[in-house]
Amino acid sequence: MSQRATLAETTSLCPDCLQQVPGRYEERDGGVFLTRDCPDHGVASRRVWGSHDHWEWAAEFGPSPEYDGGDLAVDDDHACLAVVEVTDDCNLSCSYCFASSGPGGDHRSTDEIEALLDTVENAGGRPIQFSGGEPTVRDDLPDLVERARERGIDHVEVNTNGIRLATEEGYAGKLADAGVTAVYLQFDGLTSETYETIREVDLVEEKHAAIEACRDADLPVVLVPTVVPDVNDHEMGDIVRFALENRDVIRSVNFQPVAHFGRYATDDGRFAIDTATRLLAEQIGSLEPRDMLPAPCCSAYCQIGTAFVPADADPSVGDGCGSDGGAAADGADAGADCGCEDADAGAFVPLTKFVDDQLWEMLSGMVDEGDYMELLAGTAAGEEWACKTAGCCGVDVPGGVEGLFDEVVPVSFTGFMDADAADVNRLSNCCISVPTADGDLVPFCGYNMTTDDGEYALRNRNEWGGRAAVDDPRAATGADGSDPDADAPTGYEGDGVADGGRVEDSPRTDCDPDSGCCGDGR
Ligand code: SF4
Ligand code: SF4
Repeated sequence: MSQRATLAETTSLCPDCLQQVPGRYEERDGGVFLTRDCPDHGVASRRVWGSHDHWEWAAEFGPSPEYDGGDLAVDDDHACLAVVEVTDDCNLSCSYCFASSGPGGDHRSTDEIEALLDTVENAGGRPIQFSGGEPTVRDDLPDLVERARERGIDHVEVNTNGIRLATEEGYAGKLADAGVTAVYLQFDGLTSETYETIREVDLVEEKHAAIEACRDADLPVVLVPTVVPDVNDHEMGDIVRFALENRDVIRSVNFQPVAHFGRYATDDGRFAIDTATRLLAEQIGSLEPRDMLPAPCCSAYCQIGTAFVPADADPSVGDGCGSDGGAAADGADAGADCGCEDADAGAFVPLTKFVDDQLWEMLSGMVDEGDYMELLAGTAAGEEWACKTAGCCGVDVPGGVEGLFDEVVPVSFTGFMDADAADVNRLSNCCISVPTADGDLVPFCGYNMTTDDGEYALRNRNEWGGRAAVDDPRAATGADGSDPDADAPTGYEGDGVADGGRVEDSPRTDCDPDSGCCGDGR
């Protein structure tokens, strides 16, 4: 009989009604389960972390937030990103869609969008991501981008399936000219089979054409693969290698193991981000699972990541490389012992091979959420921040560090919480926000969370706006995920966001307070 030890207690939500109920994390079968007992709907329990050992290890990196019983809101100075939904319309009709969007959906009015931008501006002008639905179906998207930039919002991403970028000559340039700083591109893999299975249509050519268009327009791209077990999890290593090969335009990869929000085809096939990390490590010889560090952000269990750097980078960062060699991310031999000095030119290894724990801790204590977001998105502003931060704080980084950052490709996993993994403690310290017209920033996972019946219960209970229920009920999609109401192919955009990392406010002792390098003076 399996072991059940309670590891921690929390406030959770019943997956049937999304009412708050007591929850507890239990060690069982070598992993960690979240168990809840709803007075109306009984006990629900689900594995939320693959390995108990990894769960304990991860806890050392991030905060353990505790919900104080107040409103679920994201603090202005804690929001890495604000996701601004501009439409419910889309040129696809995916079988997995956070937003339950599809052809024929409504656009938000410009006045509504202005109200959301007011909220972001009043919160200090956090980085934003225009999302939907598919934002590029709006012809006025460049105008919306300009409106955001005119408000002093410096980082404006567009979350897209890439179809318009791929098919409309000059569209990427239009977005770049309007002030888009990064394209957050749905990118589930490199094979037709993957897209045919997840999106119901082969989108390989469109994805490559979209990337080429962004390259021509000098528009940085973040690859966003939705990872579905037994569908495209075997392609994760190839996606990283593809990103490294195209790092002149692809600035980071944010894997999103599938979570069940909004419209989805089947209620199974989840996996925890530590499990996904182990799978990726099996596909990249130079990567070990614990090279992927939890971002000390909303909680240790929201995001884990690393950055791949050239194996022959100057090892004077930290104590040098701790790699034991092996195949690097590009399949080359990373070096017999070190992975640095003997490495083949062009080989890549995780940053953690270079950075010792002490330096990592110090750098973590200096991170501002918005800056971190920009770094993850691979923007020039993020690079500039990283260089200034390192320099002004006396960190001994190699000469020509700017060149090093040109080569670095961050790779992360985001563990979005659907109703079956709901932890209000985590929600209460979320750093990915959705602005409301009422002036609030609310947690992204909470905004999108749906009951088993497809009701956006938290959104409605808290009057956050948006729709009451999933438009295309899951029951209406066939076992193959097809949508009987739409000719368009189905799929899932990974409408989530690239979580950034807030870090705990650890005191800095070696920074020139007049340098202004770190923005908020931490
Ligand atoms: S969006 Fe979800 S996974 Fe991301 S920081 Fe917020 S609570 Fe965590
Ligand atoms: S997930 Fe699919 S249907 Fe939903 S907005 Fe994205 S591309 Fe459109």
